[in-house]
Parts: sequence; C-alpha cells; structure tokens
Amino acid sequence: MPQAEVNIMTAGHVDHGKTSLVTFLTGHNTDTHSEEVKRGITIKLGYADAWIYKCPQCKPPHDFSMKKVCPNCGKETQAARHVSFVDAPGHETLMATVVAASSIVDGALFVIAANEECPQPQTLEHLMVLEAAGIKNVIVAQTKVDIVEKAKAVENHRQIREMLKGTAYENAPIIPVSSITGANLDALCGAIQQDVATPVRDEGANPVMFIARSFDVNLPGTRPQKIVGGVVGGSIVRGVLREGEEVEILPGMLHVHKEKESYKPLKTRIASLNAGGAVKEARPGGLVGIGTLLDPALTRADALVGNFLGRPGTLPPVVNELALEITAVKRQITKFPEGFAQAEPLVLGIGTATTIGFVQGKAKGKGKKAIALKLKKPVCANPGDMMAVLRRSSNRWHLYGTGKIV
Ligand code: ZN
Repeated sequence: MPQAEVNIMTAGHVDHGKTSLVTFLTGHNTDTHSEEVKRGITIKLGYADAWIYKCPQCKPPHDFSMKKVCPNCGKETQAARHVSFVDAPGHETLMATVVAASSIVDGALFVIAANEECPQPQTLEHLMVLEAAGIKNVIVAQTKVDIVEKAKAVENHRQIREMLKGTAYENAPIIPVSSITGANLDALCGAIQQDVATPVRDEGANPVMFIARSFDVNLPGTRPQKIVGGVVGGSIVRGVLREGEEVEILPGMLHVHKEKESYKPLKTRIASLNAGGAVKEARPGGLVGIGTLLDPALTRADALVGNFLGRPGTLPPVVNELALEITAVKRQITKFPEGFAQAEPLVLGIGTATTIGFVQGKAKGKGKKAIALKLKKPVCANPGDMMAVLRRSSNRWHLYGTGKIV
C-alpha cells in the first residue's frame, strides 16, 4: 500500500464531533490511547490513513467517497488518493500541539457543530490557530445537521460564514454533513480532492522527521534475544529516509545529574520503516514508524516526543535560549497585559516540541521587537523558524500569536 500523500488536520471544538467524523470517513478510530478514551478527548496527535475513491459513473459532487463500492450507485470505484487525517487535540491547554500539528499538515477540516451557536470560544480560538499557523486550505465540515431543524442548520451556516469574514478562509467551502447517516460525506471527499492539493515535496533535501510518538513494542516477558529496538513515529517534513541509514535524534535523551538536567543526542540506525505497511523508503505524508536499534527503554511512553530525527550533522542546532519577534493574532478572545513581564513564562511550540520560555527582556542587537527567552527544555531551531506562542490569562493558556526566531 503506497504511503499517504497528504496530511489533513481536523480542528474545532472538543465536543463538535471531530473523532466521529474521521471514524465514519476512514473506518479507523484515531482515539486509540486508553487514557484519551477515558477522558473523552484526544490528547495526542492521532492519525488515520484512508483512500479516497472515485466513482466512474456519478457526477460531482457525488463522485468521491471512501468506499470501494459507490454508496450512491453501487458501481465499483477507483482509488484516487491516499490521505492521512491528523486528529489534533481539542483541549485548550494543548493549543501548542495543534500549532505543532500544523507544521506537518497540508490542509484542515474545521469541524463546527450545527446544534450550537457559532462561534463558541474554542471554535474561534482554533480559527485563530489555523490562521496563525498559516494553513492555507481549510474546509468547514458542519456536523450534526441530522439532529437540528433545517432552519437552525441554515442559521448556523450563516453564522459560520459571518465568523469567517475577514479571515484567510472567507471563501472556504462549508459542507453540512452527518457522521450518523453519512449524508454529504461524498461532497466532503470531493472538497478534499479539490481544495487540498498534494504539495510538491523536496525529496532531495536532507530528511527531517518530527517525532510525535515513541514506543517500546516488546511485550513484558519477551526473551532477550527476541527484543526489538525502540520505535519512533512521526511525520517526515522533507526529504526521504531509507532503511539501514544512520540517523541522529535531537535534542535527545534527558539526563539528570545532581539535580541538573541536560539532553544527550542519540545516534542509531533505521532497522525498519513502516508507512501504511513495511517500506524501504519513506517520504512526507502520513505517519511513518521507524524501528531503531535504540534500547527500547529510551523510547517507552512517548519519551522522545518533540525530538527531531535526521542524518547526523544536518539537523537544526539545539538551543537553550533564543530571540523571538512575536506577532499577536488579530482577534484575541481574552485580554492580555500590555508588554511582557520579566521572567513571564510563555509556552512555545515548534515542530512537535513544546517548551516553556522565560522572558529575559529585550534581545540586544536583534531588532526593536525581539524578546530574549531562556528555555526550560532545549529545542532544535534555526533563525527564521516560526513558533506558536501561548500566554497565561485567567489561569489558562491561550494562543497569543506566533514568533519568528531572529
Ligand atoms: Zn456512483
């Protein structure tokens, strides 16, 4: 099975039916971690890969579906494109992870339920995140239309259009759907085909993967000679990774010595690659799993999430402090104090990493707007890279804006 070509993020309010929509579309539940299921929210980036099929007989907007047999006419369909859904977390404190996801996605399904007034604060916040993260292709899926009167759905549609006015998504398609009856999911698949193009990937570049998961796949009691190395999962941002090649993981593994924390880079070899099946080469698109030769204890319980993986000596440098030029988002949903206080903590997101930066005043010699930050945990970053910036207000973290490393 070829690797997925595009990553599509689902954004929107936690209760608006993102997971049920992706489950209905793809037949996979992205809510696979038991803790997430228990809490009823998706706290990590979940992925579900699926094919979009085209019916040779039906006309637009009824020609695409995720079924091998056309749900409209019963004819056998043809595989059109392999897509991957990244189910971003909806919880407000994890907004940085949403922005992190945006660095690996090519488009977004913005899920808004028809049975609630629009916009809900979280809906508005996600809209700001999509814009701040620079995601270009957004499709609104207006969910739960099966449980409201038609007039209410029409009014909700108008409210969504009103909310989008003046944003980058003013003309985004709004598609009413039901994850219960399956109504209009063909039109949604059609919109994905039309509005989220497969980008041209730079396959010649030095490969970089953002690690979004890490595991120990050995069952307790596995005999030593049968133990396999640690596994890391994530998305390749650029370039191609090949079985057998040597790779480096940065900033690496946490070391605590005399209460002092430091990070030690890890070097290993790619023992196996999985991208919708075992492959010899993996490229951008979908979730890629890498079997390494690392001690599986190092990759247990997502210990390496937020790390970068690439060829030795080619990754961005590991930094403990940086200067950031911060731009606030246009429509703040909460009030923030003017300026930044000395030592104020900011949550920063880059790649799949999040860290806390403490404000150290103006960054000398880096331009008028730049602020110096000391990081709690180092990150891999180059000047020019963008970060998500969250600030605390009324005891919650809110997206404040984006920062450019200078
Ligand atoms: Zn058909």
